[in-house]
Amino acid sequence: MVAEIRRLPLKTTQGWTARSLPPSPAPTTFVRNEDGPPSVAYIATRATPGAIVMLIAITAVILSFRCSSLETDQRDFVDPHTYEDPYAAVEEFAQEIDASLITVGPEIGVGQFGCVRRGKLGERTVAIKTLKPGSTEKARMDFLSEASIMSQFQHPNVVLLRGVVTESIPLMIITEFMDQGSLDKYLVKKARCLQSFHLLVILRGVAAGMQYLSQMKYVHRDLAARNVLVNSQLVCKIADFGLSRKLEGIAEGIYTTRGGIIPFRWTAPEAIALRTFTPSSDVWSFGIVVWEVMSYGQRPYWNWRNSEVIQRVKEGYRLPAPAGCPKALHQLMLDCWQRQSAHRPLFVSIVDTLDGFIRCPERLNMETRHR
Ligand code: ADP
Repeated sequence: MVAEIRRLPLKTTQGWTARSLPPSPAPTTFVRNEDGPPSVAYIATRATPGAIVMLIAITAVILSFRCSSLETDQRDFVDPHTYEDPYAAVEEFAQEIDASLITVGPEIGVGQFGCVRRGKLGERTVAIKTLKPGSTEKARMDFLSEASIMSQFQHPNVVLLRGVVTESIPLMIITEFMDQGSLDKYLVKKARCLQSFHLLVILRGVAAGMQYLSQMKYVHRDLAARNVLVNSQLVCKIADFGLSRKLEGIAEGIYTTRGGIIPFRWTAPEAIALRTFTPSSDVWSFGIVVWEVMSYGQRPYWNWRNSEVIQRVKEGYRLPAPAGCPKALHQLMLDCWQRQSAHRPLFVSIVDTLDGFIRCPERLNMETRHR
């Protein structure tokens, strides 16, 4: 019997792609990711019930095997702030690059520490962050700490550190180059071309990066579209680890800041009030990113003043669905913005939910809650 095949997007190690599938005479059921779990990319809609049960069972077994091996493989993040000497941390975690191998190109952005340039490391195009001359000792420590943090992460949805230059001046952080720049600007620039499938792929990438970071027991604290980078394959990667800190122990699972700047519009009310950041306050911020994406880069809470945002959110106000945003995605935002942080979904379930929407877009217009 030849089963009828429904065409669905393909999932790769970097998330979903819009690649259309070649016509296949065979009743293909799975497409294997290079190093991820197999995904149900084709579904045989007329397969026998026995075959479907068998497929589900095989998928469950493979997935649980993959999950348990991932759990044992993954090390917890080590906070470089626990090192007295930031050079010792960077030396331990990051690869030193000889400055003579780097060709510095044009400026592509300006960051907190200095300008960011495109360049080459050998044949490879890279982004080069430099610490501007005359920076304070604190800026130098923060700059090196960001490199030590990034160097511990390896995930297709987290910006990859290629190495650092610390043995000559200026200090440099060399990362992979993301040719479409930051997500907030990309959304505005590409608003006319991005369809709902593309928006889902973007959100799925951000959620998968955050799932990885939270599994590493790591709280970002500054998740916002401006801190996500995009490339022309629509792969989104979490960047900017300047405000980030490790979770201090599983029991309390929170980090208390020592003051500093808080991105109020993106920050959960309890994190503002108590200065405590948790994976669930990152989930709140993710809800704001969903709103930014679905509104093609609008500013959350428009031109309201910070004090007004804080007060109204405390009183229960939540951002409305952007024009044309499906109900289920607005519900996902509202779930991320639950007052009780324990009632917010985990990133792992957010990724699942988004995968479900990508596979089955009809679900976008159903009423569902995600926990
Ligand atoms: P900082 O964290 O020091 O404030 P950012 O990392 O935000 O600096 O970089 C500032 C800008 O530089 C970004 O908004 C983006 O436009 C550009 N940029 C930074 N890193 C990259 C990269 N890896 N690829 C492409 N553009 C980048």
